[in-house]
Amino acid sequence: MPYDALAAAEATALVAREHSQAVDANAQFPTATLAAARDHGLLGLLTAPEFGGHGGTLRDAALVVERLARECGSSAMVLTMHYAGTAVIEAHGPHAVRRAIAAGQHLSTLAFSEAGSRSHFWAPTGTATAVGDQVQLDAQKSWITSAHHATAYVWSSRPCQGSEASTLWLVPRDTQALATTAGYDGIGLRGNDSAPVAAKGARIPSHLRLGPDGGGFGIMMGTVLPTFCTLIAAGSIGLMEATVAATAAHASGSRYAHLAQGNALADLPTIRAHVARMRIATDQARTLWLDTITALETQRADAMLRVLEVKAACAEAALAVVDTGMRVCGGQAYRREVGVERRFRDARAASIMAPTSDQLFDFLGKAVCGLPLFG
Ligand SMILES: Cc1cc2nc3c(=O)[nH]c(=O)nc-3n(C[C@H](O)[C@H](O)[C@H](O)COP(=O)(O)OP(=O)(O)OC[C@H]3O[C@@H](n4cnc5c(N)ncnc54)[C@H](O)[C@@H]3O)c2cc1C
Repeated sequence: MPYDALAAAEATALVAREHSQAVDANAQFPTATLAAARDHGLLGLLTAPEFGGHGGTLRDAALVVERLARECGSSAMVLTMHYAGTAVIEAHGPHAVRRAIAAGQHLSTLAFSEAGSRSHFWAPTGTATAVGDQVQLDAQKSWITSAHHATAYVWSSRPCQGSEASTLWLVPRDTQALATTAGYDGIGLRGNDSAPVAAKGARIPSHLRLGPDGGGFGIMMGTVLPTFCTLIAAGSIGLMEATVAATAAHASGSRYAHLAQGNALADLPTIRAHVARMRIATDQARTLWLDTITALETQRADAMLRVLEVKAACAEAALAVVDTGMRVCGGQAYRREVGVERRFRDARAASIMAPTSDQLFDFLGKAVCGLPLFG
């Protein structure tokens, strides 16, 4: 019987729902949800069948992330970064690692952002120096999701040789001279375990290079960007769906006892209009997201334009939707049990994760005006 990624996502989402409030309140890594994802085969979703995986598509991964994001933004982010790392490993990684991912024994993530080049992830300043059959890495990575839990990091550096922008490596988390310097105590996605990692003379075998020396930029643009942007958009859509549902439930269920017939919030036309706008924004974002996936699948000429659009559009739509949800639910929205404030906090990351919305607007503006994206 073919693997049913949506059924696996549904089963995992039930676990995510059970643990999401504790994950958020205690800034806990979503261990139980990740265990469920592993048990239901979701960690090996993108791995090719010849390595034991399910050979799933980006569409499958996007639908999985969207479903999980409705329950737990942190779990959705951890899975997003796992799939982004897996996409690189599928294209350039060792066979044994691909088998380990398929078996649910390897959690991946991206280690691109650095303290020096900040959100300009395409321009790492960390170095890679060949030392015999090893490579020495020196860098100050500023954010790595699942920093304390990933099996290995998909890591960017300057190339060993030449003037290209970057080279990618598979860096095992237990590599000596890697220091994960702090935990994560952020406003949202509080369970995503995003932490800085410093490499001071960290050595890995040189065969753990992913793609050619100097080939990092090409892999970032060709492999990582479509996966990452589509999946971050999936997270934004899941957060919007959850917010619309929680807001509609609150508006329908909250009544004014002193008014005739105990009028509900939803009986106010202004409230209904706000909810309608939230629904429209969510559906617009979903439509663009599904069209982006179709554009990638069919290699449409505008596919890359869609990739740049979709992350910005969905991230910005989510900010508007969660903001309106807070407004509609009033003072009650400040309380955890209404279910809007967590999404309000979780939704903020998508717009400032690189490529940030403002960078994407700049790239898109250049693309539309026929200017080169970089330079
Ligand atoms: C929850 C979370 C998880 C993360 N996980 C990972 C991860 O797993 N791996 C990873 O590599 N990184 C990760 N990041 C890092 C993220 O992708 C960004 O690199 C980081 O948030 C940038 O922060 P900064 O303060 O250094 O941004 P800055 O570069 O200082 O940007 C500040 C502001 O300037 C704007 N800006 C910068 N350049 C331009 C430009 N050219 N045009 C227009 N505006 C511009 C930005 O849009 C932003 O609003 C994560 C971040 C968060 C919040």
